[in-house]
Amino acid sequence: MKVLRAKSAGFCWGVERAIRIAEAYSQEGKQKVLTDGPLIHNSQMMERLESERIHEVGDYTSEAELDLSAEEKENSVLVVRAHGISPERRKYLKSLGMEFKDATCPDVGVIAGRIKAGARKGKNTVIFGDPKHPEVIGLLGYAGGRGHVVQSEEDIARLPELEGGVAMVSQSTMFVHEFERLSGILRERYPEAEIYDTICGATKERQTDLRKLVQEGAEAIVVIGGHHSANTRKLAKLAEDHDRPTYHIETAEQIDEEEMRRYAVVGVTAGASTPDFIIDSVEKRLAAIEPMAMTE
Ligand code: SF4
Repeated sequence: MKVLRAKSAGFCWGVERAIRIAEAYSQEGKQKVLTDGPLIHNSQMMERLESERIHEVGDYTSEAELDLSAEEKENSVLVVRAHGISPERRKYLKSLGMEFKDATCPDVGVIAGRIKAGARKGKNTVIFGDPKHPEVIGLLGYAGGRGHVVQSEEDIARLPELEGGVAMVSQSTMFVHEFERLSGILRERYPEAEIYDTICGATKERQTDLRKLVQEGAEAIVVIGGHHSANTRKLAKLAEDHDRPTYHIETAEQIDEEEMRRYAVVGVTAGASTPDFIIDSVEKRLAAIEPMAMTE
């Protein structure tokens, strides 16, 4: 079958940068590189990192206290993930007295800076995002107690009266069309609201590329990435919204060859935390499948 691979499939620059930072410490000879929560939402890549002495400590949301021995504190470096953390979490991690490296993606740093600047002026911040996602939990910490998270029209309707001004930002990985819709609704309620589209360039590119796959004739879309990766799940949802049969898989082994024989052209994309070696193996396996129409 013909396989169309999205140019933006795989690691975004922020994730790639965080991995490079952790790997550099490992190669430098640190006994261990510890990350506050999983560095990347992909179990195959996490296994590879483990073999490089890069280990996850803490929890998914970066809220749990870390239970580290004196030796670990002495000989390890603690790395903050691309999602970033709240100022309170930074203070806590630094209080552990270990070598500390912040690998927050600069694009997330820009959102945090925007929120911080608004909070200094007494403004309220409305974040469009998932309240349970670590990036949003971290960003809320910059809002000076005047932060609100919304995901829907109903959430906006439930917001209290907000005095002192309102600024709206987005979690970096949200849908552009949803942000535009909800920011319009927010403006109706708070006409003076300042709207900042903070969806990152890498996310926008991934969403545009998926539409291109459909325009170029993909009859079905294969989305590769961890089932717990929020941005991969969003990509799968976007593909479904384009009325294309969508297959969300983690590895090439999960391809149902009989099922895929129904298509002559398949589009392949992957979340920001999917390594190239997995995308390559999926592409190879799909390309070797003979479509039904050609053989029967
Ligand atoms: Fe940075 Fe965007 Fe990647 Fe998040 S998705 S780590 S903001 S480049």
